[in-house]
Amino acid sequence: MVKSKIKHTFDGKTVEIVKDYLYDHAGRLTSVSQKNGTDPVTTLATLHYNEIGQLIQKKLHVSGNNALQTVNYYPFGAIVESTTYSNSTDNKYRYNGKELQKELELQWSDHGARMLNFTMSRWTTPDPLAEKYYSLSPYAYVANNPMNFIDPDGREIWIYYEDEDGNEQKMPYTANMQYKGNDFVSTTVNFLNAAYNNGGAKMMDVLIGSSNSFNMVNQIPTYNGSPVDALQFDPTTGGGGNIYAKLLLNSNISDFAKVEGVAHELFHGFQHEKGQGGASVFNEVEASVFGYSVAQNWGFQNVFSGARSGTSFGTDTPNGQIFEKAFFNMVNGNKFSSRDFIDAVNTFQTGSAKGTSRFYQNHPLRSPNQTRLLLPQFYPLIK
Ligand SMILES: [Zn+2]
Repeated sequence: MVKSKIKHTFDGKTVEIVKDYLYDHAGRLTSVSQKNGTDPVTTLATLHYNEIGQLIQKKLHVSGNNALQTVNYYPFGAIVESTTYSNSTDNKYRYNGKELQKELELQWSDHGARMLNFTMSRWTTPDPLAEKYYSLSPYAYVANNPMNFIDPDGREIWIYYEDEDGNEQKMPYTANMQYKGNDFVSTTVNFLNAAYNNGGAKMMDVLIGSSNSFNMVNQIPTYNGSPVDALQFDPTTGGGGNIYAKLLLNSNISDFAKVEGVAHELFHGFQHEKGQGGASVFNEVEASVFGYSVAQNWGFQNVFSGARSGTSFGTDTPNGQIFEKAFFNMVNGNKFSSRDFIDAVNTFQTGSAKGTSRFYQNHPLRSPNQTRLLLPQFYPLIK
């Protein structure tokens, strides 16, 4: 058994969190438990391996010893990004049972009045709300072209869906809108509102106010040609992009994971909007910290009110412990810590449960266009 001690300061009080890492005879991590101040011991994670020693499932626990999330792994090591809730209390969302309509991808990538953006490099993508956030973001663009501020067809997050007659429809999302009707639209609106009201507002206002379109689409993404049960941001060439969001209708996924996933993928959209898009460890750490923080804010309001225990994201290695400590320091810290961010980026591929998959091994730590940190402007992340 290995112990790690991390001191967290919440509301001026310092709490010592002691984590116990349990290993099996083969030296593999099998469970992580936590003692948080005077609280009882809580199981954070349990890990399961197949007969040849590959990690096939990792369950994350937050509240008591009930499983909050389960992460499954493909045989070749990539994470099936879905997380299933084994303690489901809520079945209000259901599959709509419709076939994936691949031919509709063409329509989804049609950006109508925004063709102007196809002639622009993403580096010059204007941000109509940049002035509003000037005092908050030292990275806001100051050379906006006012000609690009006016584009009523682009200034939204759009939700694409199929109506009762099978016709493709789209609906603009505005902050805290109320909607009843189509399952996919109402579910997506609920989760966008959840992200908006739990720390996502400042970031989402930029996407809503952008002259690029960000679209929530009722599709499942694919990886290596196979469908992946996940939410995923997919940039479009002219700016903006699609978030594959059919997973939101899956009642086997926890609402916590859905809020986290929506905030995470929107943050990838925000990175793209700021000219910093592209898969890299740098972007993945930022989006992961942001998404998890929003979900944790949401969780305080809903399921785990008052609870501030964290899940275990690190592996059973020294780097895994460095990653996990850095990750939760960033989530819970009052200020952005460059030191923790650098630690998390440097240990992500070897030490995080997600990063050790082949998918992330193929990505660079940072791409040349990713020159600025976008996360610091949103601190503190835990509201
Ligand atoms: Zn991501």
